[in-house]
Amino acid sequence: MTKVIVVGCGIIGAAIAYELSLMSHLDVTVIEQNKPASDSTGAALGVLMGIISGKTKSRAWRLREKSLKRYETLLPELESQTGTTIPVNRQGILKLVFAEDKLEKWQKLQQTRQEQGWQLAIWHREYLFQKCPQIENDNIIAGIYSPQDRQINPKILTEALVKAATQNGVNFQLGVRVTDYKNQLLVTNQGLLELDYLIIAAGLGSTPLTTSLQQTLDLRPVLGQAMKIKLEKTLGLKDFQPVITGKDIHIVPLGNQEYWLGATVEFPDEAGEVIAETELLETLKQNAIAFCPALANGKVIETWYGKRPRPQGQAAPVIEKLAGYDNIILATGHYRNGVLLAPATALEVRDLIS
Ligand SMILES: Cc1cc2nc3c(=O)[nH]c(=O)nc-3n(C[C@H](O)[C@H](O)[C@H](O)COP(=O)(O)OP(=O)(O)OC[C@H]3O[C@@H](n4cnc5c(N)ncnc54)[C@H](O)[C@@H]3O)c2cc1C
Repeated sequence: MTKVIVVGCGIIGAAIAYELSLMSHLDVTVIEQNKPASDSTGAALGVLMGIISGKTKSRAWRLREKSLKRYETLLPELESQTGTTIPVNRQGILKLVFAEDKLEKWQKLQQTRQEQGWQLAIWHREYLFQKCPQIENDNIIAGIYSPQDRQINPKILTEALVKAATQNGVNFQLGVRVTDYKNQLLVTNQGLLELDYLIIAAGLGSTPLTTSLQQTLDLRPVLGQAMKIKLEKTLGLKDFQPVITGKDIHIVPLGNQEYWLGATVEFPDEAGEVIAETELLETLKQNAIAFCPALANGKVIETWYGKRPRPQGQAAPVIEKLAGYDNIILATGHYRNGVLLAPATALEVRDLIS
């Protein structure tokens, strides 16, 4: 058996653990200092901006397409194995186009997606207002509707991955912190572990680990705040509840007249520090009300923030062998798209090992 240790149990570590659990020659252990989905993943909205993203070629699109395809098999696989119902919005993503945006860009993307075998519709504003009467704004010129993009609850998905991987024999060590890697041994606060492969999927915690390996991967925290709003009435038509995205703000329907609204994008200062500013969350809410006025009647029942791991000076995500090591793989730095790219990341890691 080949011994593999995965550090970190956010969506990335959990997806890797599950994918590797399907390979009978691997003995997989996951080490997590806290509990699953307790860091960036726990704050995420789970919007999978795949087909509707502007990415059309090379690695960025290849990873997105790979994830979209794997999700179609992964979700039923997990649900039937674990008995967990994973909340997935299959009504697509609707992106609002404002007068200052370029519609030609979307027409070109629609053409490309058609050639690639994916659907993307361009709605005139009158049709958009008919389909989504909760949207009101004179500056909106069109809507881009992506019926095959999804939104998934990131915490429940992570938990389902952990449950399925556990059933397949993966050993999860929660509340254990990795501190170093020395003389082919992983050093944790609870002792030393032997391994053949080390996978660093520790989100922002990947930077100190790589530093201890003399190969610092520079990841910076980009903070995101979000909120949950409860309304007295469902927004728009009850039987058509896609994720609506406007001005980089997502309105995510949860059912029961509840919606997630987010997220801010707050960059760190020169020292790498970033603190949540409550005014920015209020501004986000007001900007959403400007195109979805009914949100003003809602009650904010929860607010939270998380820090997205963003690679400095290289494209997100980082999925590669650590320079100078043949048995250490980085699977981190997913910035704003970790939930979207988790299945593809897990497949890439599997291929790097095999
Ligand atoms: C507000 C917000 C909204 C977002 N919305 C979306 C979205 O809609 N769609 C999308 O695709 N993405 C979204 N993201 C981005 C997404 O959350 C991240 O890209 C993703 O969660 C990264 O996952 P990860 O597993 O790499 O990191 P994390 O979830 O941070 O997990 C890393 C884990 O490693 C553990 N760890 C770290 N160091 C150690 C150590 N030394 N020893 C043991 N364990 C360690 C941590 O405790 C943590 O649990 C959002 C992020 C935020 C903050």
